[in-house]
This record gives sequence, C-alpha cells and structure tokens, in this order.
Amino acid sequence: MTNKPVYVTQPDLPPLEEFIPYLEEIWSSKVLTNGGRFHQELESALCKYLGVEHISLFTNGTIALITALQALRISGEVITTPYSFVATAHSLLWNGIDPVFVDIDPKTMNLDPKKIEAAITNKTTAIMPVHCYGYPCDTHAIQEIADQYNLKLIYDAAHAFGVKDQQGSILRHGDLSILSFHATKVFNTFEGGAIICPDRKTKEHIDHLKNFGFVNETTVVAAGINGKMNEVQSAMGLLQLKHIDAAIGKRKLIDGYYRKNLESIPGIRCMNMVGNQGGNYSYFPIFIDDDFPLTRDELYQKLKNRNIFTRRYFYPLISEFPMYRNLTSSKLLMDSNAKAASMKVLCLPIYPDLSSESQQAIIELIAEECLAILD
Ligand SMILES: *Cc1c(COP(=O)(O)O)cnc(C)c1O
Repeated sequence: MTNKPVYVTQPDLPPLEEFIPYLEEIWSSKVLTNGGRFHQELESALCKYLGVEHISLFTNGTIALITALQALRISGEVITTPYSFVATAHSLLWNGIDPVFVDIDPKTMNLDPKKIEAAITNKTTAIMPVHCYGYPCDTHAIQEIADQYNLKLIYDAAHAFGVKDQQGSILRHGDLSILSFHATKVFNTFEGGAIICPDRKTKEHIDHLKNFGFVNETTVVAAGINGKMNEVQSAMGLLQLKHIDAAIGKRKLIDGYYRKNLESIPGIRCMNMVGNQGGNYSYFPIFIDDDFPLTRDELYQKLKNRNIFTRRYFYPLISEFPMYRNLTSSKLLMDSNAKAASMKVLCLPIYPDLSSESQQAIIELIAEECLAILD
C-alpha cells in the first residue's frame, strides 16, 4: 500500500471538462445567483430524482435548517437527538429555541420514539429527528406522537439524500425535511442544502425567507435571511446528478465488502441493513465492543498511524459541548444508548473512489488484532 492518506470521505468530482460548459454559460449570461437558470433547473431535476413535489435550494444545510424552523415559526422547546452533527442543535439555538435531547434506539442510532413522550412539556412545539447515517427513522411512530401532541416535525435529512423506504422517498415525511450538499456528503454542490416542502405555498414562503423576505421589488414580508444557492453551486448539482447513481453504486459495493469481511470479527459490530434496501451508503460506522482487543480510541490511533483517518461520528455527543452540557436533558444522557454508541463508534472510509487496496488494508489492520489473540 502507498502511504497516501486515506480519509473517511473524499468528494466525488465529475470530470472537470464536463463542468467548463456550465461555467461558460454563467460567464456569458452574467447571471450568478438569485434563482437563475441553473437554480431552477436543479430544483426540477432534484424533485424528479428524489421523488418529491417541491424543493427550495439553499447555500448550505445549516441555513436551510435555521430557515425551516423560521418558516414554521417554531419556538419554545424542540425535541432532538444528541447523536448527530452539531449543526442540528445549533440551528435551534440560532432561533432562540431550547433543545431537549432524547436518547436513541441502539439498533438504528435514531431518536427512540418510545422515549419522546416523557420529554414533552407544555413548551414543546416540535420534534427534530435525524436520519442518522442515512438510516430511516421510525417515521410512523414519530408522526403518531407529533399528531397526538400537535407538534411540528422537521427532519434533519442531511445524511439521507436519495434514501427510500417501502413507499418512496424518506424525504416526504414530516412537515419539512432538510438536505445538505456539503462536500463530504453523498451528493455535493461544494456547499449546499435544500428544504423539501409539502406544497407550493410553503415553498413560496421559504423562497421568500431565503431572499431577505422579498416578495417583489418593493415588498418585504418577513425578516428573511440570505440563504440562496448560487449558479455555480446549482450547475455543479446538475452535473453531479448525472453521476450520482454510479457513485451510490460504488459505495454499495464498498459497504458490502466491509460487511462481508468485518461482520465475523469478534467485537466488531456493523449496523443492521434490514429494511434499508433503499439506502445511500453514506457512512460505514462500526462499533467496537469490549471483546475486541483494542479500545475504539486505540483502533482509531492505530489506523491513524498508518495514514488511515477514520472519524468518530458522533463523539462527543452534541449534549456534551459547552453550550449544551448544562441542560437538564443533557445530564440525563450520562448512561444512555447515545453515550455508549459515541464511545464505541468508528466511521470507516467510504467514498466512490476508495481503492480496493486501501479497503483491503483497512480490513486487515482491524482483523489482525484478533489473529494476534489466537496466536
Ligand atoms: C452536514 C450536516 C449538517 C449541516 O449541513 P451543512 O451543509 O454542512 O451546513 C446538518 N446536520 C447533519 C446531521 C449533518 O451531517
């Protein structure tokens, strides 16, 4: 194996020459942003690809999350997961909302519907679950609770581009779903994001909110933000869409190969794939149990010493960061499934161009620990 570093992910880039014609068009039209041609085309193309009715494109996923909360006028307390990227909860703080963390289901790593009710107070206005690693939440159970308590439901679907359940796109659930097209995600526009909207009226409102609240030249209806996706990002998205099925196909092979070779190693746990036929293979988390000869952090360090940079997604828990750790709900997570997962998880490199040599080397470095014990 060469000594080139292998990172947990690497952005999938189309051939540069395919991007040039888009840039030429932008240079000649001089339309750089504000809902230009590529922005409009990408919205239609994504609706078609994802199987959703309405989408509003954003400059990144975090601004999309913040705007989604604004659009539904969420306030008070929102129930969310501690086992996610920090932007999930930050979007609440930016809206003056108090996050209330609820534990996860140790099988799916998603918000445990059975634990939501106990966290509902008279200040609760919404639930913000995450389809962690692109594995669907128990959307049915969560919707039932939202209906029963009259709560809004906003999915942080940043990991769930293209994910489907038995009935279709996972993004059709809840009141709104948010995507991220950051460079590290399955589908990237350098930076980017989107809100999936259930109807045209909601989309129009969100389109206004992402453009300062402007409805026309002289009318401003809300204290909107600047969250628009620009034309270069949109062009990138249109081009990426042509390659996305191939990219997810390559990820699937890598996922399968890891599974085949790692599942039988004592102390290494992969996530269960049952019911995830429509997945996007965005991450490959493994959980290092006590019967593995190394701790999670020892394995992380061993691989790092060999130039393989895994990531401990999600460690620390969001609830452990300074702006969250004094919340009552954070303190209740000391002995939780989320805490246990965060201490055991290691996300292995997975991206379309990961070479089979690199993948083989990663597997061997993990497996040799168990052979060493047998010796
Ligand atoms: C990446 C990510 C975000 C933020 O998206 P950006 O496009 O980077 O702003 C939000 N939530 C989750 C779960 C993410 O993984």
